[in-house]
Amino acid sequence: MKIKEKKKIYGRIKGCERCGRKRGLIRAYGLHMCRQCFREKAEELGFKKYS
Ligand SMILES: [Zn+2]
Repeated sequence: MKIKEKKKIYGRIKGCERCGRKRGLIRAYGLHMCRQCFREKAEELGFKKYS
C-alpha cells in the first residue's frame, strides 16, 4: 500500500481553521486562516489594512 504524505508543510493544519479552505492560507501571527477569514479576523482584533 502507498501512503500519500507529500504535503507535510502545515503539519497538523489541514486548512483554514475557520472555514477549512486550503487556498491562500496565512500563517502569520500564529494564525492558520485563509485570506478571507484573516481579513475578517483582523478587523475583529482591531488590525487595519495598510491603506
Ligand atoms: Zn477561511
